[in-house]
Amino acid sequence: MSGKGLRIVVLIKQVPDIEKVRFDVETGRIDRSSAPAETNPFDLHALEAAVQLKEKLGGSITVISMGPRQAESSLRDALARGADRAILLTDKRLAGADTIATSRALAAAIRKLGGFDLILCGEKTVDGDTGQVGPEVAEVLDIPHVAYVCEIREVTDDKITVVSDMGDKYLYEVKLPALLTVTRELNTPRLPTLRDVLKARKKQIEIWDADALAQYEDPDRFGIKGSKTIVMKVVIPGVEHRKGIIFRGEDAAEKLLEVLKEGGFVKP
Ligand SMILES: Cc1cc2nc3c(=O)[nH]c(=O)nc-3n(C[C@H](O)[C@H](O)[C@H](O)COP(=O)(O)OP(=O)(O)OC[C@H]3O[C@@H](n4cnc5c(N)ncnc54)[C@H](O)[C@@H]3O)c2cc1C
Repeated sequence: MSGKGLRIVVLIKQVPDIEKVRFDVETGRIDRSSAPAETNPFDLHALEAAVQLKEKLGGSITVISMGPRQAESSLRDALARGADRAILLTDKRLAGADTIATSRALAAAIRKLGGFDLILCGEKTVDGDTGQVGPEVAEVLDIPHVAYVCEIREVTDDKITVVSDMGDKYLYEVKLPALLTVTRELNTPRLPTLRDVLKARKKQIEIWDADALAQYEDPDRFGIKGSKTIVMKVVIPGVEHRKGIIFRGEDAAEKLLEVLKEGGFVKP
């Protein structure tokens, strides 16, 4: 930890409302125009953890998101919830990224910040749902990480003690700087007040493109160009509807028996 407290970075992804979104089966992509956008719910728990740590230990919170221009609304919401600085990585050359190309861009942006103690991510997103980006960012930055953190026990100058929930619970002590991915059990995100929302409206959101990151990563390793994996096919599982029949009247039991015989559930 520097003399200025804990320098925290929170990674935030804007996702479509997963209850309403449609998938383009032809292209294998999400039709983002089919549903309103929101901040990935897990990332709000990461941000709340950051705010609680800052309240206790002092320091600063920088939120970073990679996505289209509309992701600014999630960053502005993060500013209202207690972040100090917000950065949007947006550029055609960053689009169409698989998880490792996404992680390289996020890691390059974190390097560009110049120094950090702790990176917080959601355990996964509700759209991509891979849970890969957090650990991959840690690998690219060559720092330790703990996934599925459900409790932060202690932070000292050079280490953090956390509980990870992988079905069984594990206690970890890791050196800082480190990255944590967090579960919903970690905390309850608070809502911003109207005053916070109004204050956040006046704050600036920094926009960085691929060129802004070029000093820290080869731009050919971002976006679709840097992605070695592609979605070949999206299959939406069909919904099975069970048939329900209600038998009424004196012969109900006989009718039921007939159906059971026909179905081979009872021997004739
Ligand atoms: C094989 C493959 C091909 C893909 N191709 C495309 C494509 O062509 N076009 C397309 O739009 N998408 C594509 N995607 C989706 C894209 O890779 C993901 O949206 C992105 O990499 C994040 O992955 P995820 O949603 O699974 O995040 P997870 O790994 O589940 O996210 C974990 C955490 O990482 C952080 N995080 C994740 N993404 C971001 C972000 N963008 N900004 C800031 N923080 C973030 C958040 O804290 C989040 O909670 C593809 C995915 C795969 C697996």
